[in-house]
Amino acid sequence: MTTFLLKLGELTLKGGNRQEFEQILKRNLTTMLKGTRAVINCTQGRFFVHCETDRERQVEAVLDRLIGIAGWAKTSPCDKTVEAVLEACVAEARALAAAGIRTFKIEARRADKSFPLDSYGIMRAAGDAVCEAVPELQVDVQHPQQIISVEIRERAYVYGLSHRGRRGLPVGSAGRGLLLLSGGIDSPVAGYLMANRGMRLEAIYFHAYPYTSEEAQKKVHKLASIISQYALPVRLHTIPFTQIQVRIKQRSPEQWSTVLLRMAMMDAAGRLARRNRIHCLVTGESLSQVASQTVENIQCTESTARLPVFRPLIGTDKEDTVRIAREIGTYETSILPYEDCCVLFSPAHPILHGHIDEAKALYESLELEDLLEEALRNEKIEKCTSEDADLTI
Ligand code: ATP
Ligand code: MG
Repeated sequence: MTTFLLKLGELTLKGGNRQEFEQILKRNLTTMLKGTRAVINCTQGRFFVHCETDRERQVEAVLDRLIGIAGWAKTSPCDKTVEAVLEACVAEARALAAAGIRTFKIEARRADKSFPLDSYGIMRAAGDAVCEAVPELQVDVQHPQQIISVEIRERAYVYGLSHRGRRGLPVGSAGRGLLLLSGGIDSPVAGYLMANRGMRLEAIYFHAYPYTSEEAQKKVHKLASIISQYALPVRLHTIPFTQIQVRIKQRSPEQWSTVLLRMAMMDAAGRLARRNRIHCLVTGESLSQVASQTVENIQCTESTARLPVFRPLIGTDKEDTVRIAREIGTYETSILPYEDCCVLFSPAHPILHGHIDEAKALYESLELEDLLEEALRNEKIEKCTSEDADLTI
C-alpha cells in the first residue's frame, strides 16, 4: 500500500468558501483516479490518496496533472510515538543522502496536541537524530536542498522529496468558458491557463471542409483531449464555416477578410455560448502577434462577441507560450502540418489597423444572420476525454 499526501495551495486562502473548493477538488480527483482503485481520504484540510503499490505510477501521473494543489509527496504513515517518528525521519534522510542531497531542514506540524513533543521539539529532536545517523547531511535552515516534513495527525506522516503541484484553483470552481480552439499552438495553452484558474471549458472549432482536411479536425479533437487530461472532459463543438468564408470572400475587400472572419467566429461563439449558459469566450490571441491581433483589429473582433472575451496570452511572449505548450503536451500535436484556416481565404496584405466603424459596416453588409444560424444548427458535438489524448492522427 502506498500513501500520497496532497498539499492544498491557494485554496487555503479562500476562507468561508474553502469547503466548497475542497469538495470540487475531491470530485475532480475522484474522476481522474477512476480505474486506479485508489482511495481518497480527506481530514483537517489534507488530502490523502492510498493505492496499491503497483498503481503508484498511475496515481503519480494523475497528481502531476491535478489543478488546485500546491504539491504532493509519497509518505509512509508511522506510529505516533517519538521513536517511530525519529526513525522514519532518519530513513527519509538516508534516501535523500543516497539521491545526492547534502543539506536539509525539518519542518513539523502537530495537529494532534497530545503528542509529547511540540512542533519545535520535533524539529530539534529529528534534526539531531538525522545529523547523528546520516553524517553526510547538514542542517541549513535558510536554504536547504530538501525539507523533511513531519505531520502529527491521526497518524504520523514523514515525507521528503516532494513534488510541485500545478497550483491554481480546482476546475469547476470558476464558472464555464467557451474556448475558441484552432489547431495552432496558442489556443490550447490559453484553455489550459483558464482551466488553471478553475474554469470548466467547452471548445468550439470552425472548419472549412473541404478546404480544410479531416486531419485538421482530428488534430483539434486530440488537442481538446489533451486539455481534458487537466481540465476534465471537454465538449467540442465543430461548426461548418465554409459558406461563411465564401460569403466574406465574395462581398468584402480582400484585405479585410481575416478580421471579418474573426468577427464572424466571435459572433457564432457568443451565440452558442449563451445558448449553453456559458459565461465567457476564451481565445489564444496575443497582442500584435499577427495582423489580426493589433489593438485596433482586436477592437473590431470583439465588437461581435456578446460576452466577455478572456485572452490569457495577450501579454505573453511566443517563446513562453511554446514552453507551456511543451510542458502540457500540446506542442507536438499543434505543429502537425494540417492547416485550420484555408490559405485560399487569407489575404496577401491584411489590414493592420482596421477602423471599428468600417469593420461594423462591412460586417453588416455580409448579412450573415441566416448563414450563422444554419452553421450552428449543423454543429457536431463530441466529448473529448483523456483516453483520446494518445490517439494518432
Ligand atoms: P492559435 O495558435 O491559437 O491558432 P494564432 O496565433 O494562430 O493562434 P489566429 O490564427 O489569428 O492566431 O487566431 C487567433 C485566435 O482565434 C486563436 O487563438 C483561436 O482562439 C481563435 N481561432 C482562430 N481560428 C480558429 C478556428 N478555426 N476555430 C476556432 N477558433 C479559432
Ligand atoms: Mg491559428
